[in-house]
Amino acid sequence: MTYTPAGDRYDTMPYRRTGRSGLKLPVISLGLWHNFGHERPWQRQRDIVRRAFDLGVTHFDLANNYGPPPGSAEENFGRILATDLKGYRDQIVVSTKAGYDMWPGPYGDFGSRKYLVSSLDQSLTRLGLDYVDIFYHHRPDPETPLEETMGALDAIVRAGKAQYVGLSNYNSQQTAAAAAILRDLGTPLLIHQPSYSILNRWIEKDNLLDTLAEAGAGCIAFSPLQQGLLTDRYLNGIPDDSRVRTSRFLNEDALDTRTLGRLHALNDIAARRGQSLAQMALAWALRDQRMTSLIIGASSVEQLENNVATVTDLALSEAELGDIDGTVLD
Ligand code: NDP
Repeated sequence: MTYTPAGDRYDTMPYRRTGRSGLKLPVISLGLWHNFGHERPWQRQRDIVRRAFDLGVTHFDLANNYGPPPGSAEENFGRILATDLKGYRDQIVVSTKAGYDMWPGPYGDFGSRKYLVSSLDQSLTRLGLDYVDIFYHHRPDPETPLEETMGALDAIVRAGKAQYVGLSNYNSQQTAAAAAILRDLGTPLLIHQPSYSILNRWIEKDNLLDTLAEAGAGCIAFSPLQQGLLTDRYLNGIPDDSRVRTSRFLNEDALDTRTLGRLHALNDIAARRGQSLAQMALAWALRDQRMTSLIIGASSVEQLENNVATVTDLALSEAELGDIDGTVLD
């Protein structure tokens, strides 16, 4: 059946401005790292993406290597763009990245101009698009001169293959240096994508949000649910269809007794707020207005709906913030 997006899709989702740019993003974005490879049914993928768009999620985050197999998430999302979302390209922000191992040999990894330009061309083919909205360098490259990598991002924008550029997994120092080069080139840094959650606060110690504010860039955190730990997924055992059981990126070691104790304590605080643990974890990660958006993952429509419903109650009191810190800070 032909898909018609919900008429009220822009009524509830808040959109935050990305740094000092003109681009606004929904506070909840959908990431396709897991759950969108060829090993997952396409119809389920399609249901999740459609529901996301219906709920005001206008931003979809991909990378060259998402799958498995690598590249398949872009192919599957490209199919959805060409079918259900055909006609809505101008209402959607599509992001992709390059920086991790993608193909054999010296030109399929890290940060050379050779790799970034070829990889984006491949991504555009898989997505069936002429341009992406945001193209990221996925991780710092200790060997390639920063000038070359930033020059490649600038060239990509000038070639019309991306509207904006971003960095991911760079620390504050690396970000400030890269942002200065990009500014000089005339392609300002739009956004940075770090990991961040109640259980993973490295960006606070690194003063990343201050660095980004100074550069005029936004911030979009990935894995705000700590890959599913900050949800009810593991509170009563390990489900067979969970990421711990189905992915090499999360294993049982993450669920040690101390962590499980923390998750239960956090879940109790969330319950007192009338929220799911996932919702409280998302509200927490959005408490600083400089956090433009969070990229969540979802293996079902229900998870997506639960996460997006967070936007109806984002306010956390000082007492609740203190209670949350009390459960996780030693
Ligand atoms: P999350 O921390 O949001 O974890 C998502 C997982 O948590 C889901 O797959 C699901 O696990 C579980 N989950 C989500 N919502 C609920 C819920 N309401 N109730 C119960 N369980 C829930 O994020 P991801 O780790 O998936 O990362 C999100 C995105 O961030 C990626 O898709 C990618 O776009 C980006 N990313 C970027 C990286 C980078 O280097 N730049 C690195 C990693 C991610 P289950 O499958 O078990 O159901």
